[in-house]
Amino acid sequence: MSFGVLILGGTSEARLLSEALAHDPRFAVLLSFAGRTESLVRPGLPHRVGGFGGAQGLSAFLRACGYRALIDATHAFAAQISRNAAYAAHATGLPFVRLVRAPWQPVAGDLWREVPDMQAAARALGSSARRVFLSIGRLEVDAFCAAPQHDYLLRAVEPFAPPAGLPRARLITARGPFSLVDERALLERERIELLVSKNAGTPSTYAKIEAARALGVPVVMVQRPELPPAPELATQEAALAWLARLHDESLRGV
Ligand code: NAP
Repeated sequence: MSFGVLILGGTSEARLLSEALAHDPRFAVLLSFAGRTESLVRPGLPHRVGGFGGAQGLSAFLRACGYRALIDATHAFAAQISRNAAYAAHATGLPFVRLVRAPWQPVAGDLWREVPDMQAAARALGSSARRVFLSIGRLEVDAFCAAPQHDYLLRAVEPFAPPAGLPRARLITARGPFSLVDERALLERERIELLVSKNAGTPSTYAKIEAARALGVPVVMVQRPELPPAPELATQEAALAWLARLHDESLRGV
């Protein structure tokens, strides 16, 4: 009987891990998406779309389908599903890891101001009007209605109406990965004075941080939300090794 693995996704890391496991006969992998984006690029492997109904719903799903391992490979800022995953792993006793990139660290030339959340990021922009690249997706843009004086350039995967409380906001849509050449050109063309970013730690969105460094643009860097403690793996290789070990142990009846 193959070894069922539920991978909570919505990131390129989750997709790549699922693809790496898709043809491995030891495992039966299901990749789960929240279904937040209309333009979801569906993978050619077993997947599902939509919430589970909270931590209890996820626990029930894991039990009902007989899963043997749970991997939380969601975005570092998807705090609710990560909390639910930690709860469900505990409730079901399933082996559980979080696959997450280490946060970016400032290097020489970076002009970072680290803040704990979006409300603090809005305050950190200051009182006088600036040209701000708000590269945080669409979910938490409302926090910046507390600082409506700025010219905001918003970037998201899909179109959305900027909040009425941000009269000087414009939206561009784009899906990463982004290149350094393009990010630098964007910051220059838009005469960006401040960049707001989540500390995602992902290589596919790091070019904007490099571009800001090259141009001397200050970055308001939002730190990650607190999550319940859980074992963390930073690479696909580590996740594959973890699963192989679990599988071997299950054969030996450990
Ligand atoms: P969230 O606030 O942590 O989760 C909200 C709810 O969405 C969860 O309680 C769960 O619903 C459902 N959900 C989230 N991820 C799911 C998944 N992979 N499979 C099934 N249900 C899921 O999440 P979010 O910040 O809105 O992010 C939504 C998705 O976008 C995640 O998959 C995340 O990896 C991806 N993403 C997020 C960000 C970000 O900055 N937040 C950036 C890039 C990608 P139920 O409680 O009903 O189960």
